[in-house]
Amino acid sequence: MRWDHLAENPAAGPNAALFGTSAVTTRTFDAPEFSGITFHEVRARSILNRVPGASRMPFEWTVNPYRGCTHACVYCFARKSHGYLDLDTGLGFDSQIVVKINAPELLRRQLAARGWQGAHVAMGTNVDCYQRAEGRYRLMPGIIAALRDRANPFSILTKGTLILRDLELLRQAAEVTEVGVCVSVGFLDHALWRDVEPGTPAPGRRLDVVRTLTGHGIGCGVLMAPVIPFLGDHPDQLRATVRAIAAAGATSVTPLTLHLRPGAREWFMAWLGERHPHLVARYERLYAAGAYAPTWYQRRITRQVHELAAEFGIGPADRGLPRRPGTPERSADPDPGSDPGQTQLTLL
Ligand code: SF4
Repeated sequence: MRWDHLAENPAAGPNAALFGTSAVTTRTFDAPEFSGITFHEVRARSILNRVPGASRMPFEWTVNPYRGCTHACVYCFARKSHGYLDLDTGLGFDSQIVVKINAPELLRRQLAARGWQGAHVAMGTNVDCYQRAEGRYRLMPGIIAALRDRANPFSILTKGTLILRDLELLRQAAEVTEVGVCVSVGFLDHALWRDVEPGTPAPGRRLDVVRTLTGHGIGCGVLMAPVIPFLGDHPDQLRATVRAIAAAGATSVTPLTLHLRPGAREWFMAWLGERHPHLVARYERLYAAGAYAPTWYQRRITRQVHELAAEFGIGPADRGLPRRPGTPERSADPDPGSDPGQTQLTLL
């Protein structure tokens, strides 16, 4: 891969103001894997983000070195957060990637701050930290090393096989602190994968990540997400997916039904109308009450997956992402440079 950029435009562009006073350097690369993608490099002022108190998430702190995601999942819940930067939530989310190039050094500094109490840090909760850009920017090794050196517990949720590049670092961290890894695999269907998650590694390759991590003593759960109504929820599909997850050696499987928050909903429904027009009316009925499928539907999926997990011998379904070990008494440095999207948690 070459660092051949076609354009470099420091501190400019219509979105510069969105990143506060930070300079924004915009780059494109001519390597085939970055075709059509623009990177906006910024120097973040804070990298530890506190999850809003009302969140139902089992962690309180997150680190997100990227905004936008080239994995380009049609249903991606984080699309709306791109709008906070005045960036397009459709194709723009897939191709305009914000890179916090100082994330590793900033994290190291914030972890050393006197106010930091060593709380669990979750990564991959907004966008994928092992998306394609990470192959170029290599922010995660420095981030993991910073957490390892402070013996700070953390978890990573990803669809990216690139995480295996950092296997040795993860292993070292797991020797001194609690490390949780969870891979997201909602279904195995190849045609559906190509259509709905076009920038991601194939589901089978993601399960190879599970296999490799567990083989190296790093327990890895699977977030079975999203289960897509009428396209990926047939009992035979659920069975095949859970069976493959079990065969990969996952320590847990946690199902999550598709939800369609504003931002993702419009994009997904446009895709559905184009690819599966006969399903549009059914979706409008299923999601008539808002972003979530009805409770009866979610419960049915959860029950089916739990029964299959028991049948195939996977552990309890609530052990995917480790719960945070405690609540810090004081916050780390507040993040004056953060924007509302920073605290938007999506889960892959
Ligand atoms: S769902 Fe996850 S992997 Fe897919 S585009 Fe969104 S952040 Fe990226």
